[in-house]
Amino acid sequence: MGVRDDAEAIAPELVGLRRAIHREPEIGLDLPGTQGKVLAALDGLPLEVSLGTALSSVTAVLRGEGAAPGGGPVVLLRGDMDALPVTERTGLDYASQIDGVMHACGHDLHTAMLAGAARLLAARRRELPGTVVFMFQPGEEGHAGARHMISEGVLDAAGQRPVAAYALHVASADWPAGVCSTRPGPMLAAAEILAVTVHGHGGHGSEPHHAADPIPAACEMVTALQTLVTRRFDVFDPIVITVGSFHAGTTDNVIPDDATFLATVRSFSPEARDKVRESALALVRGIAAAHGLTVSAEFRDGYPVTVNDEAETRFAAGVAAGLLGEECCLAQPNPMTGAEDFSFVLEQVPGAFLMLGACPPGVDPATAPNNHAADAVFDDSVLAAGTALYAELALQRLARS
Ligand SMILES: [Zn+2]
Ligand SMILES: [Zn+2]
Repeated sequence: MGVRDDAEAIAPELVGLRRAIHREPEIGLDLPGTQGKVLAALDGLPLEVSLGTALSSVTAVLRGEGAAPGGGPVVLLRGDMDALPVTERTGLDYASQIDGVMHACGHDLHTAMLAGAARLLAARRRELPGTVVFMFQPGEEGHAGARHMISEGVLDAAGQRPVAAYALHVASADWPAGVCSTRPGPMLAAAEILAVTVHGHGGHGSEPHHAADPIPAACEMVTALQTLVTRRFDVFDPIVITVGSFHAGTTDNVIPDDATFLATVRSFSPEARDKVRESALALVRGIAAAHGLTVSAEFRDGYPVTVNDEAETRFAAGVAAGLLGEECCLAQPNPMTGAEDFSFVLEQVPGAFLMLGACPPGVDPATAPNNHAADAVFDDSVLAAGTALYAELALQRLARS
C-alpha cells in the first residue's frame, strides 16, 4: 500500500486525535495537555523523544535503517500545536470546551497530521534512507516557539543538521479542501510591533496652551505612518502598517500626560524591514520634536520573513502534485501578509512552507470565515492528505539525497 492509502487507513484515529486536541485547546508556550496527547499518539513507535524545558515541545527523531553507513541525511517536519484567545462560535459537536480559547488557526490539524506521519514513517523504518525529526511546536501565535525550540537544539536533535525542513499550514478559506499552494522566495511577511508613547504634559482642556497635548501629535503620527508607506517604499517591495490600538485620556476636558499606540508592521524583504524600522522611528521622533514633545518608540521583535528555498519549494510542490494531483497544487502568485515563526527554521535550513486548503465541502472558499475567526471551520477530510504529504516529503527528500 502507498503512503496515501496508509494515511486513509488511519484517518479515524487522526480525526479522533485532532478532535481531542480541538476540544481542549491551549495557548502559548505551555501546552501540557496537548503535549500529553502527542506523547500518547507516539507511544510505542521507535522514536527518540525529548521534551522542551522552556516550553512544552516534543521533538521526536526517527532513524531509518535503509541509510548508507553514516546514517544518511536528516529531514525536519514541523507541526505547531497552539490555539488562540478566541471564543469558538462554530457550533461543532467537538467545539472547544475551554472558555475563550479556540483552535482557530487549525494547528490541531497540523499536530494530528504530524503524529500520523510519524506513524507512517515509523512503519517504513526498514527502508527509510535517513533520519526524520518531528518538531511538535508550541507558541506559534506570537510566542516565537520555533525560536525557543531552536535554542533548545531541535535543529541538532538528530546529531547533524537537516538538509531540508518542511511545514504545512491549513486554511479554512481561500482554497478548497485538499488544494495545496506555495511559492519560492518570500511566502509570508515579517511582522513586528511598533510601540509608541507620546509624552506631553496634562492640563485643563480649556487651556491647551498651558499644557503639552500628546493627542494631536499621536494622531499626526498615525496618519504620517500611512504616508510613509506610500511615499518611501517601493510598491514592488511593499510594507503594511496598521495601528490596531490607540489609547489616550480619560474624559473630554482633561488633557492627558501621554498617548500610546501599537502598530503591526509587515514587510517582505530584509531591506524593507530595516528601512521601516529606521524610518518609522525617525518619523515619530521628528513629529514629537516638532510639537515640543518627547516620545518613547521601539520595534518589538517579531517574526522575520518566511523565505521558501527555490529548489526545496520546487521539490515540495512536485511531491504535492504527485500526491494530490496537478490540479490541486497551485503556484501562489504573491506572498501572504500573515507571519510565521517557521521563518526562524528557514533562516537556518533550506525548506518550504506550504498552505493546504481545509475549507469544508459545500462552503465557498471565497467567503468562508478565515483563520482566526470564531466561526472558522477546518475540515477533517484533509487530515489524511496532510499526513501523507508530510510523510512523502520526508521519504522522497531522503531518497533524493
Ligand atoms: Zn494563526
Ligand atoms: Zn497558524
